[in-house]
Amino acid sequence: MHFYSTYNANLACDLRTAVLQGLAPDGGLFMPSSFGSLEESVLKKIPSLTFQELSFEMGKTLFADSLPHSILKKVIDEAITFDAPLVPLAHTADTAACELFHGPTLSFKDFGARCMSRLMAHFMEKEEKELSVLVATSGDTGSAVASGFLNVSGIRVYILYPSAGVSDIQEKQLTTYGGNITALEIKGTFDDCQALVKQAFQDTELKNAKMLASANSINIARLFPQTFYYAWACAQHWRLNTKNLPLVCSVPSGNFGNLTAGLIAKRIGIPITRFIAATNINNSVPRYLNTEVFSPHPSHTTISNAMDVGNPSNFARLMELYPNGAQQMKQDIWGVYFTDNETRDAMKRVYETTGYMLDPHGAVAYLGLEAYRHTHPDSVCGIFLETAHPAKFFQTVQNAIGMPPKIPERLSEVAAKEKKSFTLSNQFEDLKNFLLA
Ligand SMILES: *Cc1c(COP(=O)(O)O)cnc(C)c1O
Repeated sequence: MHFYSTYNANLACDLRTAVLQGLAPDGGLFMPSSFGSLEESVLKKIPSLTFQELSFEMGKTLFADSLPHSILKKVIDEAITFDAPLVPLAHTADTAACELFHGPTLSFKDFGARCMSRLMAHFMEKEEKELSVLVATSGDTGSAVASGFLNVSGIRVYILYPSAGVSDIQEKQLTTYGGNITALEIKGTFDDCQALVKQAFQDTELKNAKMLASANSINIARLFPQTFYYAWACAQHWRLNTKNLPLVCSVPSGNFGNLTAGLIAKRIGIPITRFIAATNINNSVPRYLNTEVFSPHPSHTTISNAMDVGNPSNFARLMELYPNGAQQMKQDIWGVYFTDNETRDAMKRVYETTGYMLDPHGAVAYLGLEAYRHTHPDSVCGIFLETAHPAKFFQTVQNAIGMPPKIPERLSEVAAKEKKSFTLSNQFEDLKNFLLA
């Protein structure tokens, strides 16, 4: 198996290059040249496997001959150290939350970041130089990357964040690790941080002096591990449910990495009948599915802010999976979007009727499932992905339901720690001198 660029099917590279480069040299996204299929014997035993065992089976099929099984096993055992439980909602028939927030930074991004860091470390083993990972963040990605790379040997991580653009708790999640994680507070905006990272990758002097890698969300090493929890959700669903209803899965989407991973899981054999692409008013993909015209737009700010993406980067991968376009895509994906008021309403309504506390992103996914049921009369079992812990969006949740979410210990511990960061201007020379020093 090799990897090609979504801009050029003839560009071929191996897994190592795809993982360490992140983005293809022509600016496209890396895609695998082929997808295997889970063997019949594996599909049969899914309900009896543990999360780690199932992840290993998924990984063997996806990485194929690109990764020795012993390395794959080590990556999974070190990275997948927490559960992704399927939690049926009380008083609802056939609806369950797939909770993806039990990792160290309380969002599903922990899965991808933790696996990516270990894969990078594996590919750096024979290198003498240290790998410098640069990441620009406005919140969740940065903390998952920081935590995911902490103490991974041979790698130093530089996190660039806008000084006034992240919440206090988010800043603590970025700046309190120490060790091989360096937080750079940039006097500027998130766009400045992104521009600085881009410039660093184009700077010859810097590239000669350092081995640079990017850890943003388009790295293929983050996508593959995200297929694991779809398989695990399916396994748990079969254990909970003896009824043989089709399974649909609602995914709260921004850059559409998470949904792409779900579609890949389906492609290799995980029997999820249909996916729901649920978004906030940043609705380029639901609109595409309804009108067959893709017209990205500048992003709008919402309460589900990790999904405020007007031009989703993984749309290019969706087009690779469905080369015949919207008609073909619609067989697997149904799209729908919601306003902030509808989202707040859902948070309140679900809490009052079932006692379950949704975060704003999970609430969008819940609404997606509900809307699907209203428009598709056939009975289905529904799963919606809960991508973040409600305490990460404390104020929004409290305002919506009138109750403060419980703060998990690992979040309150971080809040009590001391911030360590370096302040830099938004001028590239400043960053370059810092990295070369
Ligand atoms: C990143 C994020 C999303 C969006 O995921 P994509 O893969 O970009 O579609 C949804 N919810 C939360 C909490 C996130 O952090």
